[in-house]
Amino acid sequence: MSSVAFPGKVAHLIRFDEPLAPHLWLGIGGPARYFAEPNSREELIEIVREASRAGIVPRILGGGSNLLARESGVDGLVISLASVDMSRMEVAGDRLTACSGAKLSHVVTHAVESGLAGLESLLGIPGTVGGALVGNACAGGQDIGAVTSRIEVLTADGETEWIDQEAGQFSHRRSNLGGELILSAEFQLTPTEVGALTKRLQKLWIVRNASLPQGRSRIAWPFVDPDGATAERLIADIGLAGLREGGASLLAEHPGVLVAKDDATSDDCLKLIERVREQVLLQTGIDLQTSLQIW
Ligand SMILES: Cc1cc2nc3c(=O)[nH]c(=O)nc-3n(C[C@H](O)[C@H](O)[C@H](O)COP(=O)(O)OP(=O)(O)OC[C@H]3O[C@@H](n4cnc5c(N)ncnc54)[C@H](O)[C@@H]3O)c2cc1C
Repeated sequence: MSSVAFPGKVAHLIRFDEPLAPHLWLGIGGPARYFAEPNSREELIEIVREASRAGIVPRILGGGSNLLARESGVDGLVISLASVDMSRMEVAGDRLTACSGAKLSHVVTHAVESGLAGLESLLGIPGTVGGALVGNACAGGQDIGAVTSRIEVLTADGETEWIDQEAGQFSHRRSNLGGELILSAEFQLTPTEVGALTKRLQKLWIVRNASLPQGRSRIAWPFVDPDGATAERLIADIGLAGLREGGASLLAEHPGVLVAKDDATSDDCLKLIERVREQVLLQTGIDLQTSLQIW
């Protein structure tokens, strides 16, 4: 991509042709024409305002655990929320407020240490609060939308606004927040004795660990569980465990997990996902939905 200067007074905060692969769990993908990692809310807001004036719609990068970038990359602006200032959180009474760049696992442990229950089932889900809200992250029958009381968003003009939980329209592994830039969120939790809560967290961690592939990197969890079944079970039952497309394959022992070898391309991953969806539809009549976001 050619390096055209980013407009306005935030140009010094912009990197050019930043490779996206190192920022994503799958480790695949071309560069972003413009890339920014603002150090503060103020810098973030300024970048969004300048981008808006230039007609550039930013894409937001959380933990990169639910993203697949094409080899052609992103011909636009990617904003990473990985800075410390975008990861702050605080507790007041039975409410926990977290900035959208905060790691979900840090928020869960902070809530438990503060004697607040409601988020602990989400322990072990990779990524950030922002990504979890967009995809209504869910584990053990509990989703993040259910304990979210309000969400702070940044409009395209750079204005901040709090919206309530209903406006998020949370449903199974979905919300309507994909088009918003989420700045922070407030969770309404239940005061609980810390010792009991910690024990519960430890048990959940053991169960969670057993359900995850160990020692693997470059993986994604692309499919949403359909009503009354798990995607993994469906895929295994029709004999697709271990299915391969170029450098991308489904794990034999965890067929709901896609793993990318060093030579895998985004096209390999997309073809594999399509083959699985086609076969599941053909053999079970179920239209398997994906949660993986494609850039
Ligand atoms: C090993 C593994 C296990 C997983 N287990 C689970 C599981 O049990 N349950 C589950 O629900 N998911 C699971 N996932 C999927 C994934 O971890 C979740 O979807 C996670 O919430 C994504 O968060 P992220 O910060 O990494 O989002 P990213 O991948 O960075 O982004 C995902 C989407 O959210 C958008 N986004 C991110 N932050 C913001 C923001 N602040 N404002 C606006 N948009 C934003 C991005 O633009 C993108 O469209 C798993 C993934 C892996 C690899």
